[in-house]
Amino acid sequence: MKKLATLDDLLVHELQDLYDAEQQITKALPAMATAASATELQSAFRRHLTETEAQIERLEEVFTILGVPAKGRRCDGMAGLLKEGAKMMDERVEPEVLDAALIAAAQKVEHYEIAGYGCVATYAQMLGRTEVHELLVQTLEEEEITDQKLSELAETLINVRAGSDVTDRVR
Ligand code: FE
Ligand code: FE
Repeated sequence: MKKLATLDDLLVHELQDLYDAEQQITKALPAMATAASATELQSAFRRHLTETEAQIERLEEVFTILGVPAKGRRCDGMAGLLKEGAKMMDERVEPEVLDAALIAAAQKVEHYEIAGYGCVATYAQMLGRTEVHELLVQTLEEEEITDQKLSELAETLINVRAGSDVTDRVR
């Protein structure tokens, strides 16, 4: 028999990927909050850390409902995205520009999660697993809201500041 024979198997496989991804994110967010200059961005990262911890618990609830052990599977995609963000923090970047870069890195993370949760939520729905579907949609909506908040921060605060600084220097 194939390792992944059914949509149920794929659902579990993708949930394990997300479980590992979320854990990687909880390890990266404190450093991102510290690296951010704007207090609004620092608190946005800290708030999302608390939210992420709750999302991990929600995934554990999903594993319990499905009757499988809560276990992660190395998520190389998230590791790559976080590595890019970490590389940016190591470089000599103007603080306001770094804020803009941190927002971009965080939005890439959110988009990965939105894709991942979107897929598993759909699979759960197709499999008639209503309770699992509802839990996954809750997280999906949180990730979408986080992404929107990051966009607002970028538009209203960070990128404008970074842009004006650059312009000042050019002049
Ligand atoms: Fe998450
Ligand atoms: Fe997230």
